[in-house]
Amino acid sequence: QDDIFKNVVSHAKEYGFIFPSSEIYDGLSAVYDYAQNGVELKKNIREYWWQSMVQMHENIVGLDAAILMHPTTWKASGHVDAFNDPLIDNKDSKKRYRADVLIEDYAEKLNQKAQKEIDKARERFGASFDEEQYKTTNPRVMEYLSKKKEILERMARSLETENLADVKALIEELEIACPESGSKNWTDVKQFNLMFGTKLGASAESAMDLYLRPETAQGIFVNFLNVQKTGRMKIPFGIAQTGKAFRNEIVARQFIFRMREFEQMEMQFFVKPGEEMKWYEYWKTTRLNWHLSLGLGKSNYRFHDHEKLAHYANAAADIEFNFPFGFKELEGIHSRTDFDLKAHEQFSGKKLQYFDNDTNSNYTPYVVETSVGLDRMFLAVFSNSLQEEVLEDGSTRTVLRLPSVLAPTKAAVLPLVKKDGLPEVARKIIDDLKWDFNVAYDEKDAVGRRYRRQDALGTPFCITVDHQTLEDETVTIRHRDSMQQDRVKISELRDIINNEVSM
Ligand code: ATP
Repeated sequence: QDDIFKNVVSHAKEYGFIFPSSEIYDGLSAVYDYAQNGVELKKNIREYWWQSMVQMHENIVGLDAAILMHPTTWKASGHVDAFNDPLIDNKDSKKRYRADVLIEDYAEKLNQKAQKEIDKARERFGASFDEEQYKTTNPRVMEYLSKKKEILERMARSLETENLADVKALIEELEIACPESGSKNWTDVKQFNLMFGTKLGASAESAMDLYLRPETAQGIFVNFLNVQKTGRMKIPFGIAQTGKAFRNEIVARQFIFRMREFEQMEMQFFVKPGEEMKWYEYWKTTRLNWHLSLGLGKSNYRFHDHEKLAHYANAAADIEFNFPFGFKELEGIHSRTDFDLKAHEQFSGKKLQYFDNDTNSNYTPYVVETSVGLDRMFLAVFSNSLQEEVLEDGSTRTVLRLPSVLAPTKAAVLPLVKKDGLPEVARKIIDDLKWDFNVAYDEKDAVGRRYRRQDALGTPFCITVDHQTLEDETVTIRHRDSMQQDRVKISELRDIINNEVSM
C-alpha cells in the first residue's frame, strides 16, 4: 500500500498534475501547486460538482464570497474558541503529534490485529466462513475490537470534556501496552488553534487582526438574507460555493489529503425547523449517488455516522473513501441546526430570519450542509484511476483510467509520421475539435510510445492520422481502456467523443 501511494505521488509529479509548492526553495510543507494537467482535472471535478448541485437544482444558487471576512465572523462561528487540535510533543524525538491521531493510530493497530486473526480463520474455514459471526464469538478478536472501542470512547469523552490530562494518560498507557513502541517522554497535551492569522491595514496601531477563512460555509451564512431576498428564494433552498480555505494543520501528511491551503465545495441547504432530518437523509443519499456516478466502484465508499457531534450539529455523517492508506473522510454531511444563523444574529445584532409568506410568520431556518474537499476528491479519483496492467505480451502499461468526463484532455491527435502532409491534416482535425474539447497534438516518438504517454495522462481517445486518411478521410480512434482501435470518418469524431465525455 505504501508503494501504491508513492507511485501516486510520483506519477502526479512526473506527468504534470501536482508539484510541491515553491519547489526550487525545497517546497513548503503541506502546500501544493496544480500543474498543467492537474489544473484541468481539478477544474473538471469542480464543474462536475457545480453542475450537479447548482445547474440541476432549481432551488440552489451559487455564491463566491471573499476569503477575508470580518473578524467577528469567527467568534460567532465558534472557530476562535473551539477550532482546536490537541497536541502533544515527544521530548526525546522532538516530534509533535496530534494527540487524537496518535490514539487513533493505536486503535488502528488493534484493528489490524483483529483483521489478521479474521483473515487466518477465513483461510482455515474457506467458503463457509462467516466474518460477522466470528467477530462476535472468537475471544481474541473480540478482545482486540472491544479494546479498540474502549480507547476511542475514552478519547472522545476526554476531548469533549477537555480533560487533557486524561488524553495524555491514555497515550502513556497505550505506549506501555504496546511493547514494540517502548515508552516515550511526553509533554502535556495543549490545544492549538488551526486558523491562520493576518492583518488588514498598514499602520501598526490601526491594523485589524484577521483570519484566513478555515471553511467557506461562513461566507454563505452571513449572506443568507442577501441571497434569499434578492433571489426571491423560498425555503427549502440552498447556496453553493467553491473556494479556498486555510488551516494550520499540525500533522500535515498524506500528500494532498491534508493540506494547509485547500479548496472546499460546500452547499448550505436552508430548511424549516423540524424538517432537517428528512433533508439530512436526502442529502446523504444524493451525495453518495453523486460519488457513485463517477464509477470508481461502490465498495470504495462507506458512511461513517458520527457519535460525537460538533458543537453546532444534531446529526453528522462522513462519506469515507478507500484511499491508498485506507478508508478516510472525503465529504461531510452535517445537520447544523440554526446554530450559525442564530450566532450571527447575536453577534451582529441584525435579524437573519426568513419570512414565510404562507403562514405570515418569521423563523430562523435550520441548515443541512454538504462539504467536500476538492483536493481530496482529486486524490480519490487520481489514486483510484492509476493502474498498472500486464498486457498479453507480458509487458506492463501504466494507465490512468480517469472517468472520461473528468479527463484533462479528451483526445490526442497523432500524425503517424511527421511528413507527407499528415501533420497538416492532424492540425485541421484539432482546429475543428478544440471548440468543444481539450485536444492535444503529439508527433514525437513512435506512435506506440505516444499511445502510452496519453494512457498515463488519462486521455480517453487517441486519433491517428495515416496515409489512408489522405485518400478516404478516415482515421483510427483508439480507446484508452480497451486499447481497441476503430476506423472511423473524421466527420464522426465529434459525436463519438461527445458520447463518452459529456456529463
Ligand atoms: P478531518 O477530520 O479530516 O480533519 P474535518 O472533519 O475537519 O476533516 P470538515 O471541517 O468537515 O473536515 O471539512 C469538510 C471537508 O473539507 C472534508 O471532508 C475534507 O474533504 C476537506 N478538508 C478538510 N480539511 C482539509 C485539509 N486540511 N486538506 C484538504 N482537505 C480538507
